Order: sequence, then C-alpha cells, then structure tokens
Amino acid sequence: MMFKLILCSLAVFLGRLAALLCRLAGREATSLPGYIALKVYPGLLGQLARGLSPVIIVTGTNGKTTTSNLLARLLAAQGRQVVSNGEGANMPAGVATALLKGARGKGHGPAAVLEVDEGSLGIVLRQVSAHLVVVTNLLRDQLDRYHELDQLASSIKGALAQVPEARLLLNADDPLVASLGGDGREVIYYSLERTPLSRTRPADVLEGHLCPSCRVPLAYTYYHYGHLGSYRCPHCGWARPEGAFRGEDFHREEDGFSLDFVFNDGRIRLTSPLPGVYNAYNVLAAGSAGMLLGVEPSVIREVVKDFRPGRGRVEGFRLAGKEGVLVLVKNPVGMAEALRTVAGNRPAAYVVAINDLAADGRDVSWLWDVDLEPLLKSPYARIICSGLRAWDMAVCLKYSGVSLEALRVIPDLEAALREAVEEPVDYLIILSTYTNLALCRRLLKGMGAQSEAAYMPPVSRPA
Ligand SMILES: [Zn+2]
Repeated sequence: MMFKLILCSLAVFLGRLAALLCRLAGREATSLPGYIALKVYPGLLGQLARGLSPVIIVTGTNGKTTTSNLLARLLAAQGRQVVSNGEGANMPAGVATALLKGARGKGHGPAAVLEVDEGSLGIVLRQVSAHLVVVTNLLRDQLDRYHELDQLASSIKGALAQVPEARLLLNADDPLVASLGGDGREVIYYSLERTPLSRTRPADVLEGHLCPSCRVPLAYTYYHYGHLGSYRCPHCGWARPEGAFRGEDFHREEDGFSLDFVFNDGRIRLTSPLPGVYNAYNVLAAGSAGMLLGVEPSVIREVVKDFRPGRGRVEGFRLAGKEGVLVLVKNPVGMAEALRTVAGNRPAAYVVAINDLAADGRDVSWLWDVDLEPLLKSPYARIICSGLRAWDMAVCLKYSGVSLEALRVIPDLEAALREAVEEPVDYLIILSTYTNLALCRRLLKGMGAQSEAAYMPPVSRPA
C-alpha cells in the first residue's frame, strides 16, 4: 500500500517534471509525460481520474477530436472546469498526459472529456470509471491494427462491459455502433435524418453494412457516407434505433452547414462553420452529450456557431500569395469526404503525402478504396505524390484516370511542397497522413506560410 502510494507520487512527479522540461525546451508534450508516468506506475490513470466528474470518453474511427473538443467547449461555456486531451493524443500515454496536467486530487474536481483511441478503450476503461461513453462511428481504418470491423466492435463491447454503470451515447446511423447497445444499460442514440446530399446507393466504399446478428446485407433507404444512413435488416427486422437527438433539415451553407437539432421537447436551429456532413455528426454527438450533461440549448447554439476545427482537420494557410489547405487523411471514407470538401472548381496543385508508419497504419491498401471522383472532376493542375508510399498513391491515381502529365512523384516532402508552390495556380491542397502532418506544418512555416485560423476552403460542390 505504502509502496504503491510512493510509486504513484513518483510517477506524477516525474510526469509533471517531463511536462515542465518539454515546455522549457519549447516542445509540445502531448504524450511523453504520460508515457514516463505510466512506465513508473501503470495504475496511474485510475488514480488521476479519481477527482474528475463527470468523465466523458469519446471513441470511434472519425470525429473523436472535433467531437471531444466541441464538447469540452460546451461544458466550459456552461461554466464547468474541463480537463481534456484536445490535441488528439488519444492513446493511454496521451490520456495520462492530459490528466497529469489537469487533475487536482480528490473532491469535486473538473469534468474530463477524453478522446480515446478505439484500440485503447479497454485499457483506459479498466482504470477510469466513465460516466458517459460516446461512440461516433466505426469505419475501416488502420486494418493491420484492428483487423476487421466486427472484431473491433466486439472488443469495444468487451471494453464497455467494464463500466456497466456508464451511459452510452451512440450514433444510430452506424449499424455497428448501434449494435453496441442492448446490454441492459441506459443507451441514448443520435441520428441525422435525410439530407439533400443523401444517396440512395452507396457512393463510397461498402463496409460494415451487414446485419450484426444475421450477417445478411442491410437494406438502406438512404446513405450519408460510408455505411452511415437509415437501414433495416430484411431478415430479422432489426433497424436503425430512433434517435433521442436528431439532426433534421440539414442545409449546406456558403460557410458550413445548418440543421435543426431536435430533442425531447424542443428544437433549435444550429449553424456551424464546419464543412461536410461528417461535421454535422460531430456537432450532433457533442450537442447530444452536452444536453445529457445539462448544457443549455442556447449555449449549444452560441458555441456551435463559432466553433472551428482544431489543428489537423482542415487548416488554412497563405503562402507566396496563394491560398492553401492542409488536411489530415487516414482512411477511405475520411479521405473521400476531405476531397469532397476541399476540391472545387478552382484549379489547384495537390500534394498527397502518404506514410505507412505505425501511427498511420502499416497497410496502405485503403488508398484503393478512396472515392476519388471529387478530385477527378476538379480542375487539378498538378498532383504530387509524396511520403514513404508516394509510389503506391501514384499508381492508384494513375489507374483511377489521373493523366500522367499531371502526376508527379516526389517522395521528399520538402521538395514536393516547393514544387507545388511553383505551379501557376493560386490554390494549394495538401492531404497528409498522420506522421507527415507535423513535418508539413514545420516545412510550410519555414517556407513563410501564414496560418489562417478563420479560413475556410472554397466550396463549390454541385448540389
Ligand atoms: Zn438481421
């Protein structure tokens, strides 16, 4: 007991010391302090989370960072103190780092909004007793780590069984996520009703669209993207659960979108500057969680109106008199949505920087599943493939119909960026996997780029 206490104190001390040293060295520390502290005392997460209430965990393939950042903002606007790993470091070391920075012993501490990687959910929930777990979606991502979506869903189920008292907030439009409910606990669903962008046939990649119990293909009345939509099993009748929180009357706006946020006994019109249907889901998830935690609808409306994505989503910049966007891509659905968002009618030079390091996912076969149509239809001037898997990307683009004159392969990222800036167009689009992202930012900064926080990509997608 005594020994444990000493170890725990030592872990906290060393973790905070590491955070301090990182800060003094001018480095951002989102994982290292937690990594060190967990090495010293692996049970630290539970200790650190003790004084926090409520603890909200956000997991799923896409939208974790935006959803948890927005939720943290909502709680703060309602007057709560919030601890959050808002930078997207969502493995146990990142969670521990956030808690080291924010947790203040026992008693009535701040709320915690923690984004947790799907693969780390079991480890985190073993120690942290969450009050609310939000699952955004389960799309194909990082195949080598998670094998199949079914397996992922059952491992999440196992992780959730460790916190039987936690409420679940689930995306009803994702059959795999919806199937996580039904173990007797309180489950609340959110959903997005048909939008002008909904399709009756899947335009993206088909994935996870089987009935979780009968394994027969689900029948969809419409799709939003991926396997998200309104579905029903023709065999057993299992269907999309009704959402306690719903997004209705979605409209794409010049700058973002608007929708009716519908709940129990009311509805409010939300407008958001964030692009894409996938951000409507993020707003719905965070808004629903906020409502469950007592955030006023008027606060939700005000915060959503001004909330812009953090780093690593769509980042705007100016460089050499040109406008540019830098977007993180990591799976077929996310990349297709990103292309739909940033590729417009303006001639653009692209840099597509693909790596296959552990944090990117080692298997790059997902590139073949990306719906490249928005890119193919846009007036691209040049597409430069870069990164460790530049050639894979180039082959993929070639077979998709990109003209060879427009295609270049420059694995060295700096050379690729310099080449792109030389193109006689005034719009740069940079798509990057995770491990190239920080390097991209650094190189762009070195080349004189000014970041434009309030900048939104020019959208000119046919309705
Ligand atoms: Zn069925």
